[in-house]
Amino acid sequence: MAARAIRSSSAVSSPSHRAKGTTSGKKPPYTGEPKYALIFRALQRQRAALIRGAEAVVEQRPGLATFPDMNDQATAEADQNFALRIKDRERKLIKKIDEALDRLSTRTYGICEGCGEEIPVKRLKARPVTTFCIACKTRQEQEEHSRG
Ligand SMILES: [Zn+2]
Repeated sequence: MAARAIRSSSAVSSPSHRAKGTTSGKKPPYTGEPKYALIFRALQRQRAALIRGAEAVVEQRPGLATFPDMNDQATAEADQNFALRIKDRERKLIKKIDEALDRLSTRTYGICEGCGEEIPVKRLKARPVTTFCIACKTRQEQEEHSRG
């Protein structure tokens, strides 16, 4: 005789502390080549600084449309254009840094796009977002010169 003692299946109410916002502040672990760990951290720092800087530019320019004087308005617009140009340049650099960080985590970092050789770490430290070794970069620049 099978004593069927099926109790009302008490749904195991596991205490689900869902940690909110763990992505902010906490840095993802570095999974790339150990020899690039310093570059990885330097890029992360640079990225954070750029984003802070971009925010500061915006904060410095509140309420542009409230200038009664036309000259002030024009100055404000020029300032705005200047800020946008800086932001555009920063955005491009942030994108490059993002791509470099991506290559670091997928272990494709430090390979020259021109010749497929490893870019010397010394060069990567000086220019972490580069995707060319010095020889290829030089050749590329010479070609650009002869073209234009
Ligand atoms: Zn190369």
